[in-house]
Amino acid sequence: MASPGKLAYFRLPPLPTVGELIKLYKLRAEKQLSQNFLFDLRLTDKIVRQAGSLRDARVCEVGPGPGGLTRSILNAGVSEVLVVEKDTRFIPGLKLLSEAAPGMLRIVHGDILTYRMDRGFPENVSKPWGEDPPNLHIIGNLPFSVSTPLIIKWLENIANRTGPFVYGRTRLTLTFQKEVAERLTASTGSKQRSRLSIMAQYLCTVRNCFTIPGRAFVPKPKVDVGVVHFTPLIQPQIPQPFKLVEKVVRNVFQFRRKHCHKGVEKLFPEVCRLELTQEMMQKADVDPTLRPTELTIPQFRALVDAYAHFCAHEPSLLSYEFREELRLKHLSKLRNRTMASQPAQ
Ligand code: SAM
Repeated sequence: MASPGKLAYFRLPPLPTVGELIKLYKLRAEKQLSQNFLFDLRLTDKIVRQAGSLRDARVCEVGPGPGGLTRSILNAGVSEVLVVEKDTRFIPGLKLLSEAAPGMLRIVHGDILTYRMDRGFPENVSKPWGEDPPNLHIIGNLPFSVSTPLIIKWLENIANRTGPFVYGRTRLTLTFQKEVAERLTASTGSKQRSRLSIMAQYLCTVRNCFTIPGRAFVPKPKVDVGVVHFTPLIQPQIPQPFKLVEKVVRNVFQFRRKHCHKGVEKLFPEVCRLELTQEMMQKADVDPTLRPTELTIPQFRALVDAYAHFCAHEPSLLSYEFREELRLKHLSKLRNRTMASQPAQ
């Protein structure tokens, strides 16, 4: 019994271990699905602690698999866990867990890339964007092939306050390949600074929590794993549409070892490229000889603002892609060559 004045929080009753469940349901990891499981409950507890206090929280766990991380979440004082799992084989084991935690575990058999999380929780979970984050968390140890596209999708959702962010500034605690975790959190001037660093950090406070050695997983992946925590910012550091920010950042980073003006040039059609690039760098007051990795987020903001100004005057720039111009040029060269090689009639 709980001592007077102290609330008793739910603890799971004794259950077969995750390893025993895997044997019981013959859950061999599918290599092509990059399934790597965590059996060590001290480690899954440590991942869950990175989310902060989960007292009475609602949690969406992505890719629960055999349920190791799910057990740690259920033991953290949450009010409800919604799990989204793609692989049918894990559903019976998750149902067993749900029986051990009555009314606390909701199971969705589906794909997190298409699941409508904006419909997954009641409206009263929501908190206005400008206030503290809602008591709603997303936690997951997903395959690397899913976690990177997913975080890009969720960053766009943060910018547009859609998907899991219709409830407010929902926090995320997710695993990534160690190098991706380093890129997400890399600071200005560091070797790992990349497109992903800017896209994540202009929208969120991002923390690289700790690294899990590959050997902690079964089967062991070839790489180590980083746990990353994201809290969406009230004010994005670049107040422009996501697609516009994404376009400028992508272009600037395509020549990551060259001076940044090289990438900026590719935002403009060849006929006006040099002139508009010079104008844009001056307008943004950014030194064109800095490398992309040396640019701060305020400098990216100045570049995106300057580009938005050009686009407002010349809307056709918005759809301009230099690779498309290159492709058309190449096609027209081929056509001319073919015509030149045909005998005159
Ligand atoms: N969370 C478990 C753990 O830590 O032991 C399993 C981790 S395993 C790396 C990834 C899990 O995500 C697998 O159970 C896999 O079936 C599931 N998964 C993969 N792609 C998914 C998707 N698109 N939507 C939902 N679940 C997915």
